Amino acid sequence: MAWSERHVAMLGEMGIRVWNTPDATATAPAEPVEPHRTAAPPAREAPVVTVHAEPGSRPTGVETMGWPALREAVAGCTACKLCSGRKQTVFGVGNERAHWMIVGEAPGEQEDRQGEPFVGKSGQLLDNMLRAVGLTRGDAPAEAQVYIANTLKCRPPGNRNPEPAELAQCEPYLIRQIALVQPRIILAMGRFAVQSLLRSTEPIGRLRGRVHQYQGVPLVVTYHPAYLLRNPEDKARSWDDLCLAREVLQAAP
Ligand code: URA
Repeated sequence: MAWSERHVAMLGEMGIRVWNTPDATATAPAEPVEPHRTAAPPAREAPVVTVHAEPGSRPTGVETMGWPALREAVAGCTACKLCSGRKQTVFGVGNERAHWMIVGEAPGEQEDRQGEPFVGKSGQLLDNMLRAVGLTRGDAPAEAQVYIANTLKCRPPGNRNPEPAELAQCEPYLIRQIALVQPRIILAMGRFAVQSLLRSTEPIGRLRGRVHQYQGVPLVVTYHPAYLLRNPEDKARSWDDLCLAREVLQAAP
């Protein structure tokens, strides 16, 4: 299949240079297109209010909550010690009936400040990756607008890795988000998303490239955008993962 100029430009947006296209007439952009975000409206800066909450318990009944109750439960959650360091919880963003659901790890500093997942540098890369396959987090119909959520809704201090107890406490929220969205495909980005959803500690490199299942929903594993920023040579693999997810979706009845 010949790669169109648009396709090559899209890969450029992800920072993937195409040297040898199947179509000799298609040329790669001289430099990768500078990543920029256009998809989402700028998130409002939340007032910086540090929660002085002692770890307590998670509200009961999460597994039957609708969106408003779930959002409220997350906002007031004190189930683990992360509640005491957050500026705010980071619930999720996108189409509540999206065909694609993207699951990341945990909010970082920017996300904690703005209350939206993936708004820092990895978010810019994620938006570019999504745009390359015709997806956006901004307003669009369910087939084009993704839903993005993290395994943790609160920022771990200093961006350290999530701890098992934190993942366990937060997991019911993600499970309920997935049940409400009812995505047709899940893209699990990075090892903590994979650990939560697939209960696997295998490296991403071993899990990617094939289709897994989460509660009957096809799930594709890929690298976390933060990893890709450090290891740009793996961007082409993550492009393959996106294409695999798209194929799975297109082949679904
Ligand atoms: N990394 C994630 O996994 N999630 C975010 O929201 C931001 C960075």
